[in-house]
Amino acid sequence: MKTIAVLGAGYAGLRTVKRLAHSNVNTRIVLVNKNPYHYESTQLHQVAAGTKEPADVSFDIKKSLPAGVEFILDEVVSIDEAKRVVTFKKHESLVYDYLVNALGFESETFGIKGAEENGWPLIDIDTALAAREHLEHTLASYRHSHDENDLHIAVCGAGFTSIEYLGELVYRMPELVKRYGLPADKIKIYCIEAAPKVLPMFDDKMVAWAVDYLKKRGVEFHTSTPITEVKAGSVVSNGLEFKANTIIWTTGVRGSHVIADSGYDQKRNRVVVKDDLSVEGHPEEFLIGDVSAVPDPSTGRFYPTTAQISIAQADTAAANLAALLEGRKTSKFDFKSVGTVCSLGPQAGIADIHMMGHWKLKGAIVGVVKKIVNDRSVLELAKVSNMLESN
Ligand code: NAD
Repeated sequence: MKTIAVLGAGYAGLRTVKRLAHSNVNTRIVLVNKNPYHYESTQLHQVAAGTKEPADVSFDIKKSLPAGVEFILDEVVSIDEAKRVVTFKKHESLVYDYLVNALGFESETFGIKGAEENGWPLIDIDTALAAREHLEHTLASYRHSHDENDLHIAVCGAGFTSIEYLGELVYRMPELVKRYGLPADKIKIYCIEAAPKVLPMFDDKMVAWAVDYLKKRGVEFHTSTPITEVKAGSVVSNGLEFKANTIIWTTGVRGSHVIADSGYDQKRNRVVVKDDLSVEGHPEEFLIGDVSAVPDPSTGRFYPTTAQISIAQADTAAANLAALLEGRKTSKFDFKSVGTVCSLGPQAGIADIHMMGHWKLKGAIVGVVKKIVNDRSVLELAKVSNMLESN
């Protein structure tokens, strides 16, 4: 019997396994993940801000797997494409006939001095929880330190993760002020972004609304301000210095280091794949999710790395594997976005939805939309546990 190895139990890997199991392919399916649980990476900002608990955004992988799928709990060290072998930290290596590499993302520092040592990234449950504990500990310290920098928070970058984190943070701040007896007028929240515009995927009007919403709740935006160094207690942009004892590092992501370690032709640990998502010269191997760079024929650029796209890629990869096993031709990846939602805490947000028309939404309604799309499991905020059970 042929073996399909699926690496990574993020949105892309889990969806692939589920699709393969439902397509009744007569193969051995082995899923590999370094943690026993799956976490919803689109909700890490809530764990970091303390508006959700780890248990709310994660679930046991084994309990959710379709029958017959084997699970290896281990860390992938490297992939030998020529020999078709995956090596692990602890287990014996695995020989595969087909591979789906969905190893996901890591924090990107762009080599900026001090970013790794002094910034708190939000890339998994542990880092999100560590960022939250640091924030609360630092705020609480103010009572005896009287160091105003303990009340300053710098959020680096103004992409989705930063803005959604800020939304949760300003929502929770009144509770933190009360809990730790803090002087609310002394709290400073900086958002420092290299580009002239935040959230470039939304139109100017919607961005202005989101920025205004956060400004009214205490966020100070500094756009066109590229961070050049991160020190213990400050963020530096050329001549400017923003003093803050909590520095959240959310300037973007790159693919898993296993990509570079395995000798792929890559950029920021992402590999450009063919239009059927297979790797050049390796029709038996598919790269999906954040380790892949998929050209979008409609724009000439690469698709962004979002959960929604990862899920769509998983559907294509699983269908193409079934086609290969049955001796049929593979199909091109074809993606139509159903829209984008950026929440600003639990009670507000902006959304650009392409479902039953084109809807540009802002305000409290976005919370409702998010709930609907969560339940329907269509957008990237979809709960994977539901998704695994749906067809
Ligand atoms: P991102 O790449 O979307 O945003 C990072 C931001 O940091 C960019 O605006 C960039 O200009 C800025 N930046 C980079 N280097 C900088 C520097 N030196 N100084 C100042 N600013 C700098 O990354 P993200 O927000 O971590 O998101 C990662 C991926 O996950 C993206 O593809 C995103 O679309 C996706 N995501 C989507 C959602 C959603 O749709 N709700 C939520 C979270 C993440």
